[in-house]
Amino acid sequence: MYIGRFAPSPTGLLHIGSLLTALASYADAHANGGKWLVRMEDLDPPREMAGAAAHILHTLEAFGFEWDGEVAYQSRREGLYQEALGRLKNAGLVYPCYCSRKDWQAAATAGADGFVYNGRCRVPAQRPEANGKTPAWRIAVPDRIIGFQDGIVGYYAQNLAHDIGDFVLLRADGFWAYQLAVVADDAEQGITHIVRGQDLLVSTPRQIYLQQCLGANTPHYAHLPLLVNSQGQKWSKQTLAPALDLNRREALLRQVMRYLDLPDAPEVDRPEELLAWAVSHWDIRTIPFHDIVTE
Ligand code: GLU
Repeated sequence: MYIGRFAPSPTGLLHIGSLLTALASYADAHANGGKWLVRMEDLDPPREMAGAAAHILHTLEAFGFEWDGEVAYQSRREGLYQEALGRLKNAGLVYPCYCSRKDWQAAATAGADGFVYNGRCRVPAQRPEANGKTPAWRIAVPDRIIGFQDGIVGYYAQNLAHDIGDFVLLRADGFWAYQLAVVADDAEQGITHIVRGQDLLVSTPRQIYLQQCLGANTPHYAHLPLLVNSQGQKWSKQTLAPALDLNRREALLRQVMRYLDLPDAPEVDRPEELLAWAVSHWDIRTIPFHDIVTE
């Protein structure tokens, strides 16, 4: 049984890095006789770009991708996240936090992914007055190593207490945090294999800890090399990654297939044939794990 997924955020249009992730997750799923789902991670409306979700799906189709079942939209799955947070509340694992970012970050140490929250609100007697403020909800993390064997990167581990700190599941502005939504969704959709970019490696121990707290299975993970510009920055909306050009579908697919160490495909008439070539020649063991510089 294999259920994989591609989970774009509609904060911008698909670029070469997204195409690499889409193709790798698709090929890994199909080469293993699995399903490949698409989930739209539209959790953060202020950061989203109008029309991007529809544009992303249209682009995937134009490149020959077909997904199994309906597209899931995180914006329509609020009940699932409420339920997960409710279970963590009942288990006494989460607490309301009234600290303003400015206050707690001033004295915080740097961790693996930003500042490490000092845990002030974990102790009820230390919590600032609510004063009618809506809290953020944080999960208390354990002081132990959480590690896993990644299909591309190898062994990766963190001590959440030292490297991350108690992290937010529901933001004070009412938006769900990526970490909670992604774990609730992966569990509900029965995802068994996650193939995604290495920018999310740093999030994985948090997600494994949430899976443990919620009694969900931990999927297999494989974190792909990042495509970076000549300054070593990941291609993204912030680094002005150009949107995929639909007139260059074949050239772009061949480009990411080279990055994934696939053999050169013969001449084709349609992009679907390149996807089929990627599936039939797929070998996750040969994918490089270091960043790939591309212009
Ligand atoms: N939505 C995330 C992104 O676009 C991916 C989440 C995931 O694959 O877990 O970066």
